[in-house]
This record gives sequence, structure tokens and C-alpha cells, in this order.
Amino acid sequence: MSGSTMLEIGDLHVSYGQVDAVRGVTLKLEHGQIISVIGPNGAGKTTLLAAAMGLLPSKGILKFEGEDLHGLDVEARVERGLCLVPEKRELFGELSVLDNLQLGAYSKRLASAALKRQLQQVYERFPRLAERRSQRADTLSGGERQMLAVGRALMSAPRLLMLDEPSLGLAPLIVRDILAIVRKLRDDGVSILLVEQNARAALESSDHGYVLETGEIALSGPSEQLESDPRVQATYLGGG
Ligand code: ATP
Repeated sequence: MSGSTMLEIGDLHVSYGQVDAVRGVTLKLEHGQIISVIGPNGAGKTTLLAAAMGLLPSKGILKFEGEDLHGLDVEARVERGLCLVPEKRELFGELSVLDNLQLGAYSKRLASAALKRQLQQVYERFPRLAERRSQRADTLSGGERQMLAVGRALMSAPRLLMLDEPSLGLAPLIVRDILAIVRKLRDDGVSILLVEQNARAALESSDHGYVLETGEIALSGPSEQLESDPRVQATYLGGG
């Protein structure tokens, strides 16, 4: 399926009452790709992901493998293979790592054998989570919490993983680890929509990039090309 369109967003609009947060965004994600959406605070990145997931109503084209997502609620979108890792990670701090992971499988209503298999895969991908399976989530480090948030999302066996600022609040070395995991997921067949304020890390890890400014796509192109674009360098990469 690699190379064909998985997610198609066209002239998408999302508003909060009078505030137009996403204004005519068009983008495309091919199967097997990582695309990044970079842009400043308040550009509409989170809003775009929320609309794709069905957490906010939107107008325009929003299709997953050719199917219009507008008629599908969040649960149905999860069933299709979409999954969102929210910016605040939204873990249950007082619950164990294992409990948090099991909650991720809820919407798929996995049979227990399938759940075990899924859990095993997550532990293989994140040995640190396996070591800490009985530990409370709120005792984990920032990087481990992000791993848990991604691991929990993987419990629903997503085909399109949407990540909202996975680097937020993490030290550069940890960011590198997390993004290496994201690239590995892509190599294993999970397509990725990565939203980041950390433009450098996002462009280094993605195939194609979009720059979102005040709700509109200001620039887009292959990530390497964006990295060397003087406008991107001046505004988002600290002058290169
Ligand atoms: P950040 O990196 O800070 O999360 P962002 O690019 O994800 O920024 P959004 O959070 O999508 O941006 O916000 C886009 C715009 O929509 C901003 O102007 C914001 O103030 C506005 N906005 C976001 N959430 C709401 C809300 N619940 N009600 C009203 N306006 C909102």
C-alpha cells in the first residue's frame, strides 16, 4: 500500500465559535510516510489533529483511505486505524504502567489473547515499560511517560498515528530517542502525522513537512527541502 494516499485533508476549516483556528488547510499523507506539521504556538496544529480524530467538527475534505471521516465518530475512526497521542499525554498517574496500556486497548475491545499479543509487542518495542509495568505512571520520567503515551496508543493497533508535540518538555537526548522510535514505527508500517513546535527535530524525522501559520499552510515540501529553505531557517531553525 506504500505510496498511495492514506489521509487526505482538503480546504479544511475548523472554528471555535467566532475564532477560525484552521482556515483552508490542505495536506496529504501517503501510506508509510511520516509527515510533520510545524508552526508556532496557536497556529492551529492541535486543532487540526482534533478535527482529524473527530473531537471537533470541521468543514472541507477529510478522508481516510478514500472514506469520508465526517460521518464517523471518534470510536469508528479508531476502528479504522486512526489514533491520537495528545499533547498532555493524558495518562492516569495513579494507575500502573500496565493499567494505562490496557486502557489503550479499550476501544478495540480486544479479546484477551489479542490484548496479550498487543501488550507483548508494546513491551518489545519499549523494554523500559516492561521493566516498570507495575510502577505508577506518575513516577515515570518525562521520556518514559511519552513512551507510555505512545505505547498506549499502539494498543489499539493504529495504522495512522497522530502525535501532538511528542518532544514537549523533554531533554534533547530524550527527544532523539522518541523520534527514533517514531521512525521505527514508520519503518514497521505505521504512518505518522507528527505535529511539532520543535521544527528541527520534526523535519529531520519526517518525509514531508507543512508549515502552519495562523491556521493556514504557509509552506510545504519534502522535509529536506524545507530544512534548507531560508524562510524556514530564519523563522523556525534559529537562522540555520
Ligand atoms: P500550541 O502549540 O500552543 O498547542 P497549536 O498550533 O496547537 O498551538 P491550537 O491549540 O490548535 O494551536 O490553537 C489554534 C487557535 O485556536 C488559537 O488561536 C487558540 O487560541 C484557539 N483555540 C484553541 N482552543 C480553543 C478553544 N477551546 N476555544 C477557543 N479558541 C481556541
